[in-house]
Amino acid sequence: MKLLILDRDGVINYDSDAYIKTLEEWIPIPGAIEAIARLSKAGWTVAVATNQSGLARGYYDQAMLDAMHARLRQLVAEQGGEVGLIAHCPHGPDDGCDCRKPKAGLLKRIAAHYGVELAGVWFVGDSSGDLDAARAVDCQPVLVKTGKGQRTLAKPLPAGTLVFDDLAAVAARLVH
Ligand SMILES: [Mg+2]
Ligand SMILES: [Zn+2]
Repeated sequence: MKLLILDRDGVINYDSDAYIKTLEEWIPIPGAIEAIARLSKAGWTVAVATNQSGLARGYYDQAMLDAMHARLRQLVAEQGGEVGLIAHCPHGPDDGCDCRKPKAGLLKRIAAHYGVELAGVWFVGDSSGDLDAARAVDCQPVLVKTGKGQRTLAKPLPAGTLVFDDLAAVAARLVH
C-alpha cells in the first residue's frame, strides 16, 4: 500500500503557540484539504500523527479533539477523499510516554494498524520533532514551510530531509 503520514498542526491546519483549542480555531491551511483528497483519490492512504498535549494540559477535551477530526474527515470527504488513521498523543512533555514526538510511538502505531513497514514512508511535518521521529524509524523526513516550518528551516535538518512549500506541493510531487 502507498502510505503517507502527516503531522496535523502546521501541516493540515494553521498552528498557534496558544494551541488549537476549539473547532473555530481549527482552520485548514489553503490547499491542504484538497491535497489530502487528491492523494487519497490517487490511492494513497493518508494517516495523521499528532501531538495533542493540550489534552493533558486541560486546554480542551477528547470530545473537542474528536470534533476537530470529524471536521477534517468531513471536509476531505466533500472533496471525494478519505482520511486514514489519526493517531494522537494525549500526554504532556513530562509524562514519559513513548508516543509524544520526537518519540516514534505514533508512527509505530500507524504502521501496526496497517501492517506495513515504516522504512521509506514519508512523514510530513513542520517541526524538528516530526523530522526526528521520522528518522528514528527510518521514515523519509519531509518538512513543509507552513506552520513552524520556516522556524524549523533555520535549524540543522536531519540528512536527507525533503523540503516543500506546503502540503499541496507534496501532493503535487506524489500524484501525477
Ligand atoms: Mg506541527
Ligand atoms: Zn504520548
